Amino acid sequence: MTAQTETAAPKRVLLAKPRGYCAGVDRAVVAVEKALEKYGAPVYVRKEIVHNKHVVETLSDRGAIFVDQTEQVPEGALVVFSAHGVSPAVHEEAAARSLRTIDATCPLVTKVHMEAKRFARDDYDILLIGHEGHEEVEGTAGEAPEHIQLVDTAEDVDKVVVRDPSKVIWLSQTTLSVDETMVRVNQLKEKYPDLQDPPSDDICYATSNRQTAVKTMAPSCDLVLVVGSKNSSNSVRLVEVALQAGARASYLVDYAKEVDEAWLEGVTTVGVTSGASVPDILVMELLKWLGERGYGDVEEITTANETIAFALPKEVRQSRVR
Ligand code: SF4
Repeated sequence: MTAQTETAAPKRVLLAKPRGYCAGVDRAVVAVEKALEKYGAPVYVRKEIVHNKHVVETLSDRGAIFVDQTEQVPEGALVVFSAHGVSPAVHEEAAARSLRTIDATCPLVTKVHMEAKRFARDDYDILLIGHEGHEEVEGTAGEAPEHIQLVDTAEDVDKVVVRDPSKVIWLSQTTLSVDETMVRVNQLKEKYPDLQDPPSDDICYATSNRQTAVKTMAPSCDLVLVVGSKNSSNSVRLVEVALQAGARASYLVDYAKEVDEAWLEGVTTVGVTSGASVPDILVMELLKWLGERGYGDVEEITTANETIAFALPKEVRQSRVR
């Protein structure tokens, strides 16, 4: 019998598409850039404009000042509200301090705000599925606090109490795991069989498209690297989706330099993707880093082509800020 020489499978990278910037993030980041160009520094930004360390640092270097609360913005100054949206109370605080405002809330978050307002006006109990403490959830819940209950965990389902079980609707944060949200909805429907669905999906196209791409790629991957920040909900979800879909390991990194070389031991196929708030330059740096370690063969796995774009906030399309 002839001895056979084992040849190792070639190392490769599968690159998810779509990945990275969504239309809402692009709009919010450009809004701050345009505000800096048009009105000069400083431009205040309430909370991180989008949840990405690199983006926030780059804009800070150009003169944006990020604050946690409206009261930290000097009276009369210009402030941009982040892509995650704000509650009506924040608009009132800004008006009370005579702030000039640019609202960079993603139109798809605004859509959920409008649904919350409409169903509160019709006197529904609204069960908002989302992560406690996330800025988007705080903004949406602030539209109708007396009508909205937050449902994050399975335990929260047990705690929900409604006035009329025939008049209950669920809404959700835009950046959740599609599959886990349906688990929560089914739990709620067991408790309230008449629970109504939202008029249209609240989980946005960018979140679900990025999850679909990862699900397609992950079963072929030994390791999936997600570029994104730890406070980015949709990026964290991509790691979870990769593991659930069959990747042997998955990690979230802000930068290529954060990848631990030990993660590559015995790895033939590396999947790469990025959250909706991540500029593609960070993915390109990761591909370069992987290429230097033998993973130079890159195949893009395309599951959707995105063409959505949103118009900029009117204040940065016009010559003056109100
Ligand atoms: S992830 Fe979705 S909701 Fe959030 S900014 Fe992007 S498009 Fe808008």
